[in-house]
Amino acid sequence: SPIPDFLDETLDRFRPDRSGENADYIPALAAADPEKLAICISTLDGIEYTSGDAEHAFSIQSMSKPFIYGLALEQEGLAGVFEKVGVEPSGEKFNELSLDKKSGRPLNPMINAGAMTIHSILGDPGASLAERTEIVRSGLSRFAGRELTIDEDVADGEWREAYRNVAIANMLRSYDIFYDDPDEVVRGYIEQCSILVTVKDLAIMAATLAGGGLNPLTGEQVLSPRVNRHVLAVMMTCGMYDAAGDWMTEIGMPAKSGVSGGVFGVMPGQVGIATLSPRLDRHGTSVRGAKIFRDLSDRLSLHIMDAP
Ligand code: GLN
Repeated sequence: SPIPDFLDETLDRFRPDRSGENADYIPALAAADPEKLAICISTLDGIEYTSGDAEHAFSIQSMSKPFIYGLALEQEGLAGVFEKVGVEPSGEKFNELSLDKKSGRPLNPMINAGAMTIHSILGDPGASLAERTEIVRSGLSRFAGRELTIDEDVADGEWREAYRNVAIANMLRSYDIFYDDPDEVVRGYIEQCSILVTVKDLAIMAATLAGGGLNPLTGEQVLSPRVNRHVLAVMMTCGMYDAAGDWMTEIGMPAKSGVSGGVFGVMPGQVGIATLSPRLDRHGTSVRGAKIFRDLSDRLSLHIMDAP
């Protein structure tokens, strides 16, 4: 098959680019090897094409947010979740301390304020940290089609310096967005962000979203088609934070980045794509990852607004 050669050649062209910096506020990410470079594309029947460090595991970080949002929507229903978290792009950084002025809710589930609120919805009201952590771990595993694990070193390091996320959680608690202990919600959210994945896992997770919620490896319907559509729509408008418009016009597919340097994109009905490269731009998105996505979008005509 010519696809692996195509992917090798694509990575080779972007490998020399050393612009950007590793995330510095999570010790394990600051220490990550910045040269790591990987890509995986998964078809809707679960065939995976890879190049580079495709077996290298890294923490999922903000790329967990759309999947956890989907699980919360399945648990509570669209209307129930909408009472707590909106669906409007914020145009702000991912860790902004912000609430919608009119409704008092977090603007969307992709920024940290919304993602922590979504995390707090999981399980029975007042579920323990351990219970929510297991709901998250087992839930993300259903998207990946294998049992994922948590890197507690990544979590401990982020927790020690989580002043900003603790501030956001206290803001949410003070506005009665949730009634849980703010520290427990932050810790649970950090456990969520510390789940280890490879680009192969992320490509399967993305292919699950591309296939209307059906995991191509296990055949499990992880999300209903209605919830899946909703998750993709929110990813498309909010997934890239204050770069969402730029991403949508230039690259043109729903995508999510994480500060570990991973990016995944979803072509509905076609493929899931994932890349890893740790150096980030000022939006917290992988520099080489974004360039590779842009290149693939151009060369394979993946922009969803292109006429077929
Ligand atoms: N755990 C990180 C944080 O909350 C995730 C951020 C991200 O990947 N954009 O700051």
